[in-house]
Amino acid sequence: MAGLQIDRIEKSFGDTRVLRGISLDIADGEFVSLVGPSGCGKSTLLRIIAGLEHQSAGHIRIGGRDVSGIRAAERNLSMVFQSYALYPHLSVGDNIAVPLRMRRLNAMQRLPLLGRYWPGARAANVDINQAVSRAARTLEIDALLARKPGQLSGGQRQRVALGRALVREPAAFLLDEPLSNLDAKLRVQTRSEIAQLHRRLGATFVYVTHDQVEAMTMSSRIAVMMRGEILQCAAPETIYDDPDDIRVAEFIGSPR
Ligand code: ADP
Ligand code: MG
Repeated sequence: MAGLQIDRIEKSFGDTRVLRGISLDIADGEFVSLVGPSGCGKSTLLRIIAGLEHQSAGHIRIGGRDVSGIRAAERNLSMVFQSYALYPHLSVGDNIAVPLRMRRLNAMQRLPLLGRYWPGARAANVDINQAVSRAARTLEIDALLARKPGQLSGGQRQRVALGRALVREPAAFLLDEPLSNLDAKLRVQTRSEIAQLHRRLGATFVYVTHDQVEAMTMSSRIAVMMRGEILQCAAPETIYDDPDDIRVAEFIGSPR
């Protein structure tokens, strides 16, 4: 059970209330989009789920476990950013391997005396290489493993970022506007690839976008956010045909 429970999350930066009591239950394997205008708090909420930011109040539960005291690296979630955030000096393969190498490093640091002579080190390297190849095959970037990010197109870079998310076999994927740096054609293509990836993995996806069309085509449910609140969370058809709130209707109906 790797569902996510967002329970009355509040967040203020100084005097500015950015999240005003957000609650949302996301079932294991669900694809939920968070949509809303720029500045409404989508990224902040995602960062709090990921453990990159601390909430002012409320709880996040992953698979039923409260993760308040648990560091980002140990939450078993993968976050994908709009900016890709790849290491320019590392090859594609090494970029994808980063989370696994970090995990191994963390494990070794907990065994400081054993660390250097850890007999599992060589085996772990083989495992890491296999996991990287698997992720690369899934995303059809296995021919690019030796390249540097600078030698890739935007769409390929975003796939490498997805590969790096995939390789950890996370309980859930958190994607923050992953397509917004791509041109329109590539956006449509990558969108359907992400939807396919979700179907294939059956993992939980939380997908942030300000693009309601994107959300409509991919999600099992859409949460419409405005000024730090969720106005409505429902299936795309319901949001479209039966909005709870005039602000939902206006946001969904507005051209981009
Ligand atoms: P969205 O992703 O929906 O565009 P954000 O979550 O990035 O919105 O931001 C929500 C609000 O919180 C914005 O007004 C933004 O300026 C503010 N904010 C975000 N991060 C910080 C921060 N670290 N310090 C101060 N204000 C912040
Ligand atoms: Mg944002």
